[in-house]
Amino acid sequence: MDSNQSTHHPFPAPAIERVRHELRRRSLIVESVADITPGMRRIVLKGDDLADFTSLAPDDHIKIIVPGVHGTEERRDYTPRSYDNAARSLTIDFALHEAGPATQWAIEAQPGTPLEIGGPRGSAVVAGSVKRWFLIGDETALPAIGRRIEESGADTTVTAIAAVADSGEQQSFQTSAALTIRWIYRPLSDATNAEPLIAALAGIDILPQTFVWIAAEASVVRAIRAYLVEERGYPLSWIKASGYWVMGKADTTEKF
Ligand SMILES: Cc1cc2nc3c(=O)[nH]c(=O)nc-3n(C[C@H](O)[C@H](O)[C@H](O)COP(=O)(O)OP(=O)(O)OC[C@H]3O[C@@H](n4cnc5c(N)ncnc54)[C@H](O)[C@@H]3O)c2cc1C
Repeated sequence: MDSNQSTHHPFPAPAIERVRHELRRRSLIVESVADITPGMRRIVLKGDDLADFTSLAPDDHIKIIVPGVHGTEERRDYTPRSYDNAARSLTIDFALHEAGPATQWAIEAQPGTPLEIGGPRGSAVVAGSVKRWFLIGDETALPAIGRRIEESGADTTVTAIAAVADSGEQQSFQTSAALTIRWIYRPLSDATNAEPLIAALAGIDILPQTFVWIAAEASVVRAIRAYLVEERGYPLSWIKASGYWVMGKADTTEKF
């Protein structure tokens, strides 16, 4: 038996198909800025360069290219929350925090502000239809979580646990999937504490053939992944975990 398959979970994991895209820079202009919650700024970008923009997976990322403090060019990863080729539009949700250059750009952006983006370089498409998703994350994961929920069909069950600052940060998602979402409140200053998420997970039965997706501050992701694999015996091949940011380090992500 594959070492990643426990006796309780003898199912082969779904294949992940990697699709590469032509990598090029696109020049866009901010069309609108709206705070969907006090801590989440939604920016809609427009530009003819979006006519052939492609993003095949909800957890794809683009690089946004913004000015740094000393006139440098800084790049940060963001999720294409939604896009529309015909309308030439792309929406990005920015989780606001003590600003690095990307967040600073989002705080200052106004209709008409230019933005260059690169990518996505590729998409990791979970092949075959997964019937059950379990999505776990913090504010930075919410764009991918929201997109996954909204793109899931009526034959899909989605369970999500999201850590946010307070009830004002809850979002609602339009979906025909069977959705259960649990919001965990903790101040952003506690974003490296995995305990509230692990405590919530402890009460949830994860059925076999559930694809578990985790994204948050890297130490939190590492702790949740270890809990699922070591304490729950969940197979690694059914888990995708990514550190979307690292506390105290600029421009840092972690792949597990
Ligand atoms: C694949 C992928 C997709 C992502 N999608 C999104 C998305 O759609 N929306 C989104 O908001 N973020 C997203 N992120 C996270 C985002 O790239 C990081 O939060 C990034 O560091 C923000 O850049 P910055 O210039 O504001 O801060 P940086 O210059 O990178 O960091 C400055 C300081 O801020 C801290 N910091 C960074 N992010 C946070 C945070 N969220 N909360 C508190 N402190 C923080 C850092 O530890 C550092 O000390 C994604 C990351 C990845 C890897």
